[in-house]
Amino acid sequence: MTAHTIDVDAAVVEDHVMRLARHGAWGETGVWRTVYSPEWVAAQDEVAEWFDAAGFEVWRDAVGNVWGRIEGADGSPGSIATGSHIDSQTPGGRYDGALGVISGYLAVKSLVEQHGRPQRTLEVVSMCEEESSRFAATNFWGSRGIAGMIKPHEPDELISYDGQRMSDIMRELGLDPARIPEAKRDDINAWVELHIEQGPLLETAGRPVAVVDAITGIRHYEVTITGRSDHAGARPIDDRRDPMHGAAEIISRVIDTALEMGRPAVTTVGRMQVDPNFPAIVPRSVTFTIDARHPDPDARNALYRRHEATLEEVCTRRGLDLSVKINTDHPPCLSNPDLVRTFQEAARAEDIPFETMPSGAAHDTQRIVNVAPVVMLFVQSKDGRSHTPEEYSYPEHMAEGVRLLAAGLHRLAY
Ligand SMILES: [Zn+2]
Repeated sequence: MTAHTIDVDAAVVEDHVMRLARHGAWGETGVWRTVYSPEWVAAQDEVAEWFDAAGFEVWRDAVGNVWGRIEGADGSPGSIATGSHIDSQTPGGRYDGALGVISGYLAVKSLVEQHGRPQRTLEVVSMCEEESSRFAATNFWGSRGIAGMIKPHEPDELISYDGQRMSDIMRELGLDPARIPEAKRDDINAWVELHIEQGPLLETAGRPVAVVDAITGIRHYEVTITGRSDHAGARPIDDRRDPMHGAAEIISRVIDTALEMGRPAVTTVGRMQVDPNFPAIVPRSVTFTIDARHPDPDARNALYRRHEATLEEVCTRRGLDLSVKINTDHPPCLSNPDLVRTFQEAARAEDIPFETMPSGAAHDTQRIVNVAPVVMLFVQSKDGRSHTPEEYSYPEHMAEGVRLLAAGLHRLAY
């Protein structure tokens, strides 16, 4: 008989998911809750009420993150913090982000109820924004605030999709953009974010949860291949400098490279522009993106070297001009090995079946890692679906996630 650190009622977890999902409810099961919208305000207010009712000390920082705090008994500096984001895709589901806020709240509340005051300070945060759903370039607004990574000019330069300025929107809610630097934290001793997996691996493995040992590194190449535009009928097929033919070979080969390297390498060509873009013209140039990701720093570099060699080789052989821009380049975010071990051991002690795996998706945690040691936990996503109202996690899996989160926090703070 395994002694559970806390008891969690799966129905209570699901009830909290449904309560948050009312704010910005979209269609049958969706949520549409962009940062600083009325729905967002209502959701953050409800979270603040939960924190307050549970006896947490509640405060809001300069970007609108809502924090709840239980002061540790030993008076040591810093805190153990957990949380996730409250905003959604447009539309998104009920679980992305929200489950991490709810789990943090329920884990800390249950710990205090069932084990009393912690030795070390525990904090739960409902972060304001992660998804870039209202502004193209805000992503990680909440966690960048915490990590001190928002540049002073950003609030005045960021314009929402409906034409409003970030600084004006913030002021309307009583948030002073000039005070954003005050949101920075340098006293978080350990950070853990629980999130839905958003992919199919846990379901395939038949496990409810995972300990995340890395968030994948990502690079976006923008590739332009230029050849010569010609008549599609009059120019013989063996006398062309056709950038489309070169692009087709490159696209096929870079995707094959990721397939050869195998999981968790991924390479995606998701956007293409052809100029001219007509059926009867050999194009002059083809521009496309290559999104390539790997969580292991060395394997990631190997993947990129192979992609770059393919670009060079194909274009040289075909007499095509090549231009490559790197638009995004984020190194992998590695979880702290001690924190990974703490949560693995907690899962074993609690008899919770788990995987240890990297995250292929981006998360707030990869900003928080700039100011604290981090780890993440995943809860299984049904059919691997996310960023859609179809998103679903089973209540019993969510409850296992809350139990694991609480058991790890117990090891860290009690
Ligand atoms: Zn998320």
